[in-house]
Order: sequence, then structure tokens, then C-alpha cells
Amino acid sequence: MSTRRKIPAPEANPETAAYWQAAASGKLVIRECSHCGKLHHYPRALCPFCFKPATGWREVSGRGKIYAYSVMRRAETPYAIAYVTLEEGVTMLTNLIDCDFDGLRIGQAVTLVFQDSEGGPPVPMFSPA
Ligand SMILES: [Zn+2]
Repeated sequence: MSTRRKIPAPEANPETAAYWQAAASGKLVIRECSHCGKLHHYPRALCPFCFKPATGWREVSGRGKIYAYSVMRRAETPYAIAYVTLEEGVTMLTNLIDCDFDGLRIGQAVTLVFQDSEGGPPVPMFSPA
């Protein structure tokens, strides 16, 4: 079982403030364009598909699958970064925590967990489902 490393507080900006507020209340939200209906992540003020400023938010299930990952074994506290594709179809860059790094595999089902940051909102990460 991996040890959690310390995570600095994420910096919010006007595009991501609502995202981090949702994280603070234990929810993972992604942008949903109210013009073309497509979802995207990381949160942007303009939809990356149709370039309209009309974007809302949608809470997601927190279930996904590992698309790709890499284990940083030489770090002071080893960690795994990963692209996780959410059930809703959006892929996000994240970390895999609370797991055996040697047991990870592409396509593995993972579920959302929040890790506390140092003085900021919790950060959405994933662990094996
Ligand atoms: Zn759009």
C-alpha cells in the first residue's frame, strides 16, 4: 500500500474557483457546455469544442478507468500520476493513491478519493475500485 505524499494547496483562478469550491464539499464537477452539450476538463471559460462562453457544471460519478499511468519511484515519497477516463467520457490528469503500485494496470476500474492539500481544498485523486 502506497504512502500519501504531501500536496501543496491548488491555486484557484476565475476559471477554476467553482471547481475547487465543489471539491471542498466533496464533489467532483466538470464543465458541460450549454451550447454544444460536450463535457471537458480542465475547466475553461470557453468551450474548447465550439468556443462559446456558455459553460455550466456537472457533478460526475467519480467512477473511471486508468487510461495511462506512471510511477515516480525515485521521488522521496513514491507516487503514481495517471490519466483516468471518467465514466462520463472525459479524461483527467490525476494521481493514483492508496494502492499497490505494482498491481496497477491499464483499463483498471478506479474510484474518486479526495486527498487533503496543505492549507487548500482537497484534491481529487483515484484509487482502485
Ligand atoms: Zn461547446
